[in-house]
Amino acid sequence: MSATLSDVDIVVIGAGAAGLAVGATLKRAGASFIVLEARDRLGGRGWTANTGGHPLDLGCGWLHSAEENTFGAVASERGVDLDRSTAPWQKPAWTGNFPLAEQEDYRETWDAFYERLEEGSASVADRPASDFLEPGNRWNGLLDAGSTFINGVELAGLSTIDYTRYHDSGVNWRAPTGFGALIARLGDGLPIELNCPVAAIDHSGARIRVDTPRGVLSARKVIVTVSTGLIAAEAIRFSPSLPGKIEAAARLPLGLADKLFLSVDDADDLPVDGRLYGSRDRTGVASFHLRPFGRPLIECYFGGAFARELEAAGEAAFADFAIAEIIGALGSRMRARLRPLAVSRWGLDPFARGSYSHAQVGYSDMREILSAPTEDRIFFAGEACSRHDFSTAHGAFRTGVAAAKAALASLNDATVF
Ligand SMILES: Cc1cc2nc3c(=O)[nH]c(=O)nc-3n(C[C@H](O)[C@H](O)[C@H](O)COP(=O)(O)OP(=O)(O)OC[C@H]3O[C@@H](n4cnc5c(N)ncnc54)[C@H](O)[C@@H]3O)c2cc1C
Repeated sequence: MSATLSDVDIVVIGAGAAGLAVGATLKRAGASFIVLEARDRLGGRGWTANTGGHPLDLGCGWLHSAEENTFGAVASERGVDLDRSTAPWQKPAWTGNFPLAEQEDYRETWDAFYERLEEGSASVADRPASDFLEPGNRWNGLLDAGSTFINGVELAGLSTIDYTRYHDSGVNWRAPTGFGALIARLGDGLPIELNCPVAAIDHSGARIRVDTPRGVLSARKVIVTVSTGLIAAEAIRFSPSLPGKIEAAARLPLGLADKLFLSVDDADDLPVDGRLYGSRDRTGVASFHLRPFGRPLIECYFGGAFARELEAAGEAAFADFAIAEIIGALGSRMRARLRPLAVSRWGLDPFARGSYSHAQVGYSDMREILSAPTEDRIFFAGEACSRHDFSTAHGAFRTGVAAAKAALASLNDATVF
């Protein structure tokens, strides 16, 4: 065991938004704890890379439901400014290749689809969200692409009941210095061990044994915040095994969303915080955010099976596709002006194995099963545990605070070993 690792009351596994919220809550309560993180950095699926002189959010970028979002307070406490300008998807896109009247037609189809989905969620039996598409509608491919961006999965794989429980106030803000960097700031002053992947949790004895590359730690409570992709794959081995958790995690799989940042030479002719559509006749397309924060960049977003295909084809496949699409929309003069800066491949990331969770059709109640404590000793947190804010950083944060409070309460109730 390393000098910094010693037995504690509570071991927290993972230092993403959930694990850091756990840590901050435990610290405020004066608890004895440590956070163990597999990576060499904090933030998990919140990750700001500083590349080409720009803070680039390769994971989460938007504070959704911003006026209610806990990260608003985290930012103001730390003197981090937030940008409140309208999100690009809430404004008309570039009209050069997608006339306004067409965009309005698409928007109306989108609104009508989501109204049908809301109505459909009232029925007892869950249904795939794709059931609510209008057969033969020309926008179906693009609506499905929208689902791959929002949910990481196509509508056919999406539980209508779970999806419609998601809460969205419609207000979205950003941190110009990076949302991932803001999440990492939650770790200030916390006892955290980086490069410390937990391999196993043995809860057969009076104290729980946590197996790490630096030795075995023992604790009275453990709070697990790793992604459902990792729980389902049993990347951390529980003994005795927890089949109910593995099943719940498998039914809340991580969809896939990836980002590519391109730098743009002489970007002034592109609108600040504009949006560009490329191809619109199929699901395998990307969405383009022009000049985020006015920077000479294009942020490209990919989702679902198409993102998986591109990940398998290698990093260059993202840029090849995106540049061809941008040239198709803005003209061949763009070719010499674009250069790839950074790309994510969350599906291949061994400590995430995907981007964000959705419920499979018929399994909308798995979030409660995943988040329930085991024996009042092992607690679970993370975006997938949230009933209404799943797939988000603020959802992860809130589940972390709840799990920390539950662990503290059970610690106070329990006999001291
Ligand atoms: C491309 C993309 C865009 C997104 N956009 C948004 C957005 O705009 N707004 C938003 O709110 N959300 C967004 N999200 C989702 C958001 O990033 C996640 O929901 C949130 O960060 C998840 O936090 P978490 O703490 O639940 O999990 P994680 O961030 O995955 O944290 C879990 C931690 O556990 C660690 N870990 C894994 N295995 C082990 C182990 N064996 N031992 C120790 N540690 C381990 C991981 O390294 C990680 O740090 C986006 C995600 C992606 C990928």
